[in-house]
Parts: sequence; structure tokens; C-alpha cells
Amino acid sequence: MTELNEFSVRSRGRNEWIDVTGDVRRAVADSGIKEGICVVFVPHTTAAVTLNENADPDVGRDVNLQLSAISPDRPEFRHSEGNSDAHVKTSLVGPSVTLIVSGGDLLLGTWQAVWFTEFDGPRTRKILVRVLGE
Ligand code: ZN
Repeated sequence: MTELNEFSVRSRGRNEWIDVTGDVRRAVADSGIKEGICVVFVPHTTAAVTLNENADPDVGRDVNLQLSAISPDRPEFRHSEGNSDAHVKTSLVGPSVTLIVSGGDLLLGTWQAVWFTEFDGPRTRKILVRVLGE
């Protein structure tokens, strides 16, 4: 069995992390699939998705700080849109995560959450969730 779900998020600015764990959990529940895998995919080039801690909001802030240190806005960049730093961060974080579905829910570590990472907002973004299993 397979099911495709989609939802959108509205970001407020650049380098913002949005916890979408609840939305992904709902997509898994709506699919009716109890055992399988779930792929969360972000179809954008300046936004990404990752797993990380949700207990302390400073974790996302600190990772953003480090990503900005790794990918600062550089005068040498040629891309006319002026957001090459956001494109680099997106490639570093990645467009998808694969999760285990067990007992009809996501199997996550105690401190793990699914984070949508916006690097060039504010924008309305799309997130796709494909659930495979039975
Ligand atoms: Zn661009």
C-alpha cells in the first residue's frame, strides 16, 4: 500500500526552523499504514528538511548559526537572485528524510523532531509525504 500526502507551511523569514513532526504524524495516520516507511520530501531549492532535537529551541538556532558560518553570503557569488548562500545551505541539509513507520506512527528517537528548514523566506512552502507499507 502507498499513500501520498501534501501540506504547506508559511515561513516568516530566512534561516527559520519549523517543527513539522505533527503534520508528518497526521499524514502517516491518514494513510492508514501501520508498518512501513515514510519519506518526507521538500520540493524546493532554498529550503530543506532534517531531523534534530526539539527539546531546546537553541539547537536549531545554533545549527543555523553554524550553517551561516559555513555558507556566508559572498560577493563572488554570481547567481542573479542573490540567494546562493541559501542554495548552499539547502544542499548541505538535503531535500528529504526517510523515517520508520511502526504501529501506525513515526518511530523517532526521544529528542528527535522533523524540522522544515527555511533559508530564503518568508514564503509559502510545500512538503510531500509518501508512506509505503501495509
Ligand atoms: Zn536562487
